[in-house]
Amino acid sequence: MLSKQLSIPHISTGDILRDEVQGGSELGIKAKGLMDKGQLVPDDVMVGIVRDRLGGPDCIDGFILDGFPRSLPQASGLEKLQGQLPALLAVSLNVPLDEVVKRLGQRRTCRSCKAMYHRTLNPPKVEDVCDSCGSELYQREDDKKDVIQARLEVYQRETEPLLGFYRERDALVEVDGDGTAKDVFQRLVSGLEVGS
Ligand code: AMP
Repeated sequence: MLSKQLSIPHISTGDILRDEVQGGSELGIKAKGLMDKGQLVPDDVMVGIVRDRLGGPDCIDGFILDGFPRSLPQASGLEKLQGQLPALLAVSLNVPLDEVVKRLGQRRTCRSCKAMYHRTLNPPKVEDVCDSCGSELYQREDDKKDVIQARLEVYQRETEPLLGFYRERDALVEVDGDGTAKDVFQRLVSGLEVGS
């Protein structure tokens, strides 16, 4: 939604990795084992992927990084690239833990266009079929119960410290992420002061 509103690319490092897994590349094969367990792919690999992607001509006027940085070394790596980039803001979408578990467990993702659905809050018109492109919806391996717990632990250990990192740099925007996608989007747009 934000990518459309601002006409800048949405770059999800998870989507990039899942494409590598699907394509069967060497990186994909290595990443799959970590991803299926909810563990992070090594920082140097991730910084390299993001560096290459941000060099694309569509990133000149800005970009949205989704799922990156996820650790302090990744945030430092990004900061080192920053001389060549527009000023960065970090957004934290704050959602109660039990709500996060419910959202992930009920999430279904399109194999082809990667659109996301929630089985009760945002179901597709036809069960397990993507409204946008008609492809099959599936449950990601890491959206299964045990892996969700592992991901939350990794988040608390590796990613939560980034709140302090960006707060210190006066670059943190915190948004209440509870409620419908439309409500959260409105809060996000006003938090970023990019409303039309
Ligand atoms: P996501 O789609 O953002 O939930 O990412 C899915 C999985 O891909 C994560 O659980 C990690 O295994 C891996 N991944 C995605 N982004 C990163 C990142 N910035 N650093 C390390 N691993 C990542």
